[in-house]
Amino acid sequence: MPDLLPHPGSPGRAASRARADGRLLVAEIFGPTFQGEGPSAGRLAAFVRLSRCQLSCVWCDTPYTWDRTRYALRAESRRMSQAEVWQAVEAIDAGLVVITGGEPLLQQDRLVWLAGMCRAAGRWTEIETNGAVVPSRAIAGANCRFNVSLKLANSGVPARRRLRPDAIRALASTGKAVWKFVVTGPADLDDCCGRTLVAGDLDRRAPGPVLVAIEGIDGSGKTTLAAALAAGLARRGIRVTGHREPSDGPAGRLLRSLSRGGDRHPVMLALLSAADRYDQQARLADQGCDLVISDRYYLSGLAYHAADGIGQLLYQRLNAGVRRPDLYLFLHLDPAIAAARLGGRVRDRWERGGIAARVPQSYQAALHLVEATEDAEVTRLDAARAPQDVLAQALTALAPLLAEHEGVPRG
Ligand code: SF4
Repeated sequence: MPDLLPHPGSPGRAASRARADGRLLVAEIFGPTFQGEGPSAGRLAAFVRLSRCQLSCVWCDTPYTWDRTRYALRAESRRMSQAEVWQAVEAIDAGLVVITGGEPLLQQDRLVWLAGMCRAAGRWTEIETNGAVVPSRAIAGANCRFNVSLKLANSGVPARRRLRPDAIRALASTGKAVWKFVVTGPADLDDCCGRTLVAGDLDRRAPGPVLVAIEGIDGSGKTTLAAALAAGLARRGIRVTGHREPSDGPAGRLLRSLSRGGDRHPVMLALLSAADRYDQQARLADQGCDLVISDRYYLSGLAYHAADGIGQLLYQRLNAGVRRPDLYLFLHLDPAIAAARLGGRVRDRWERGGIAARVPQSYQAALHLVEATEDAEVTRLDAARAPQDVLAQALTALAPLLAEHEGVPRG
């Protein structure tokens, strides 16, 4: 797909070329100097720093291994044969060899050999990884330890990129992983202990179709964008499933019907909304498609039910077990323009004066909540522009997500 953009921190072609010809893409080999982390902290070590990383942490101290916007990566790295690497390592008088990066596991097929050489020479090997690359069976079985530095929200990297449940589980199952977190303040302690390693939280990001939620006030063009996006992606060979909320399931139909009728208790409607979402989780996990586009989802629920008097923290708790989208596309539009588009239409309680007037502000609070507490990735689209321009904005926002998703054709 020609309009899918490469991610800034993607490993790039150089690492692939190095892999293909059996060489390692190396930033530097140095030592002896002290290992500064993990169980071997304080031991003298030889360091092999490999180039390239698929993440882009804001505080990274080795950006010269991956940040092509600030560094000429070709000048900062070189391809070295196995003989050259071993000659450099052997010349360093240290019993420990630390393979670091960048992200070493991007070149893991070459590291099995290096770990074997170290073992034969009586040296111990440690591989420092960000924990977001699944280790192969070969490297998992190598004679080495994995120092895994899972990145927290303070890295500035979206959770779906830095937390790969399959990689974390695979590293944990080697029995050779030790774990490290960069903590910059008290809030990060919750991140480490409460969210990153809680299995339920990881499961919410389990592999499955990409889930994109299109959100915005009534009249902002959600349904138009959902249809255009689905058609555009399907033309490129991506298997897309459409979804909407309330859904056509039993709880969704009941919610839709009750919303059209007389006054109902807001708590009952909020419970039905959450029930509908839980009921649809299996459909959202459908392995037969690459991407689900949902016309409204949890963010709408937060906004509309808050405008109906339901606290957003309560609604958040009601929905604690439902999958969060990989991306929210939020259609930003002046409420006056949206009202003019609707032409005075009032179909249900959500479009009546009081609630409708409160929804724009509720949406802003909901956006703040999911960005602050759920690490949500939100792209705001200018919905005042022509439909084809809005579609173009949406495709640009989706590009890195699709490029990362395994199994999505790239055209
Ligand atoms: S994972 Fe490590 S090398 Fe990659 S960007 Fe983050 S800190 Fe830098």
